[in-house]
Amino acid sequence: MKAVIFNEYGGWNKLKYTDFKLPKIDYNEVLIEVKACALNHLDLWVRQGLRGSALKLPHILGNDISGIVKKVDKITNNFKIGDEVVISPGISCGNCQFCLQAKDSYCRSYEIIGALNYHGGYAEYVKVPIQNVLPFNFNLSFEEVASLPLVFLTAWNMLITKGKIKMGETILIYGASSGIGSAAIQIAKMHGLNIISTVGDEKKIQKAKDLGVDEIINHDKDNLREKIKEFTNKQGVDIVFDHIGEKTWENSIKCLKVGGRMVTCGATTGPQGITDIRYIYSKQLSILGSYMASKNELIEVLKFVQLNKLKPVVDTILPLQKAAQAHKLMEERKHFGKIVLTP
Ligand code: ZN
Repeated sequence: MKAVIFNEYGGWNKLKYTDFKLPKIDYNEVLIEVKACALNHLDLWVRQGLRGSALKLPHILGNDISGIVKKVDKITNNFKIGDEVVISPGISCGNCQFCLQAKDSYCRSYEIIGALNYHGGYAEYVKVPIQNVLPFNFNLSFEEVASLPLVFLTAWNMLITKGKIKMGETILIYGASSGIGSAAIQIAKMHGLNIISTVGDEKKIQKAKDLGVDEIINHDKDNLREKIKEFTNKQGVDIVFDHIGEKTWENSIKCLKVGGRMVTCGATTGPQGITDIRYIYSKQLSILGSYMASKNELIEVLKFVQLNKLKPVVDTILPLQKAAQAHKLMEERKHFGKIVLTP
């Protein structure tokens, strides 16, 4: 089969389009013909070797996969050969206390497809555990479906499971044009929140408003905390959705109102945020950590996709051969929504 691999860590030019051996499925695994695979920032970090865990090289990236069931080594009533499916990206042991409580992202052997041992979807075929295969029957393209899992399940876990958002609350969501930002905006909108979001490019403002953003901050030009004061009558926001890390951390804490909460899922700009502890106790704040989500949260998301309440935002579709160019595009941050590869 054709695949995009890398043999050593480094820049986007390390990605090579080449022939690769077809994956051989074991018991409990399914062979999927990949129709689309969306990029995530995680791909860039894995490619650069920044995740701190050693991969067996060569490696195939790609966490968000949609495709067709090609081969399965077990009888299942859930799907059959030829079915259109989306792959739940989290792999867990399936029998520890967390997996049995449908908290699979707490599993100690939890990993993400394409990010560690399991090869991902930058290929014509991929093998996945049978429990990660979810059939879908809604009217979206493979490219749109592949744009859903990772960002929507993470945003769902942050806002619903951890953040417990309520109608009428005000939320600050960083990066309206990022995959995760655009997912969070839709989930918050659906739950009746007042949404403040940020962009770094005036051209992105209208798209952000179309998604449901009420107030926009230009994070390059505006003073974030002054703007938050202006938009909230000096009260601050009820909840901050942070996936940026070091660069935003201090502001995230300081623009919360009394009793406010911050949910974090990542540290794109660095891991060492400044925390003024006095704010935490005197304003009685909560800081909540989120890492992926369980499969039942993805199933919940898909329910709302089927109802047309949540919609993936696709920016660019490129053929698999252009994976390196797609990574470069992602690093340039000019896109709005997901970048998707098609074999
Ligand atoms: Zn487990």
